[in-house]
Amino acid sequence: MRAYSYSQMRQFADCRLAWKLAKIDKVPEEKSLPMLVGGACHSAIEAYSEACWRSRLPSDAAIIPEIVAGIRGDDKKPVSAEIRTEVVALMEKFAGSFAVIGSELQFEGQMAFTPDWSPAEWFGKDVRFRAIADLMDFDRAGEKVSVTDFKTGWKIDPSSEVEDNLQLRIYALAAALKAPWASEFRVRLWHVRFAYEQGPFVIHRDEIDGIRAEVEERMAEMDAETEFAASPGEHCQRCGFRRSCPAYKASGRTEEIPEDSRELAAAFAFAKARVKVLEEAVKARVSVAPIELGNGKVLTFVGEQKTEVVQLEPLVRALLNVGVTKGDVWSEMSLSKTAVEKLLRKVGRKEMAADLLRQYGEVSTVTKLKEREA
Ligand code: SF4
Repeated sequence: MRAYSYSQMRQFADCRLAWKLAKIDKVPEEKSLPMLVGGACHSAIEAYSEACWRSRLPSDAAIIPEIVAGIRGDDKKPVSAEIRTEVVALMEKFAGSFAVIGSELQFEGQMAFTPDWSPAEWFGKDVRFRAIADLMDFDRAGEKVSVTDFKTGWKIDPSSEVEDNLQLRIYALAAALKAPWASEFRVRLWHVRFAYEQGPFVIHRDEIDGIRAEVEERMAEMDAETEFAASPGEHCQRCGFRRSCPAYKASGRTEEIPEDSRELAAAFAFAKARVKVLEEAVKARVSVAPIELGNGKVLTFVGEQKTEVVQLEPLVRALLNVGVTKGDVWSEMSLSKTAVEKLLRKVGRKEMAADLLRQYGEVSTVTKLKEREA
């Protein structure tokens, strides 16, 4: 019997091959820097929140350096200086924006369930489903459980609603199983990097059976899978197998989009500069001879006529005379050929455009790089 979790379900939905490699074949996944930062930051948030809760302080930035210094990676070794610096910055943001308060808090709560959804030991043989909640608040008097999931990435899905978010629905299910006395489950995402909250979304106990049925259906689909097809997509960026994945290479997605916005801006600036260099190089080659593109076409210089208005005042007078309003003329940023045609079309006199432009404009030829038949 396989045991599942939300992260497995997401991986399965993204790419069945990646899920097979990770969870069935147990091939070690290569972790990207954002994943390592995310893991280290979650450890820091857990230790920090527990310390705040013990001392009954809603926040305590003074303890961050000591907590971050104690973080270990999966290999039990201290994390790199680069990761520590990023985690300190994230934790300072967290301490300045998130209050560790509640009725009865539980941090990184591990919940395991048998096939009939009874509680189980985390590593028990009879485990069918596992969930870890970053922060749970059990409000027995109010018969409510609140679950918070901390996100450390750069991406926020603005349309995130509980109906679109299986993870949040699974948290509500796990909370409902763990707290049979509760009738209401409030689930939310906290984006640490932006001090931004999505939710809370309220789920009531009468919705829990539907969520359980949905999770069981997904598990049955995963049990029955035999094809394990690769599905390249945006998710390849966070896949630990992409370096060796032929489907990823064949998909032409090998140009990675960084998760860090600053890195993305730098990559964009670099690409723009590169395009300029390449354009100059192509122009230099085309000036010697057209480039054969191999599809019956050539890349070559093509002269295009450009009409520029040079006598603005008489042109505007002529436009007003045929019924164009001052307001319409004013709203055009500049009187280009297209703008003159648009203004005349509005008053049903489009046929005048060519004459007026000939009279008050100047025609020149610009040379552009274009594909044409060989
Ligand atoms: S790189 Fe993409 S296609 Fe390949 S296994 Fe990973 S998610 Fe699937």
